[in-house]
Amino acid sequence: MKGGGRRGGGEYGRGGRDDGDGDRMMSQFAQIPTSFGHELRACLRCRLVKTYDQFRESGCENCPFLEMDKEHDNVANCTTPNFTGIISVTDPSRSWAARWLRIGRFIPGCYTLAVSEELPEEYQTVCADNNVQYVPPKR
Ligand SMILES: [Zn+2]
Repeated sequence: MKGGGRRGGGEYGRGGRDDGDGDRMMSQFAQIPTSFGHELRACLRCRLVKTYDQFRESGCENCPFLEMDKEHDNVANCTTPNFTGIISVTDPSRSWAARWLRIGRFIPGCYTLAVSEELPEEYQTVCADNNVQYVPPKR
């Protein structure tokens, strides 16, 4: 007689499923605003729209050099709650609206059609230092 009545060994708990697809998608997308209340703000340079908290948590995906994270706290200076209209862009390079808004090279996300304020001059200098074009709003 061989073996014996041992059954069911060797099965490790393999609970987790390993499709990391969701995460990879997210990294190519700007955060989508989690609310549409008054705390919604638009980046003065690229017009990306997110909540104040989202800008503070992870800055602007298109403008990392504006350093809106917690340490530098530039959110209030580099974003505005005063903007008109909002558009969600999933493929900026192929969207005529995105090209018209000059966001064709930005990452997918929610953008506003127009901001009424200019980026403060010191941050325009930061843009120039980073070889980034800043287009002031039309008056
Ligand atoms: Zn931006």
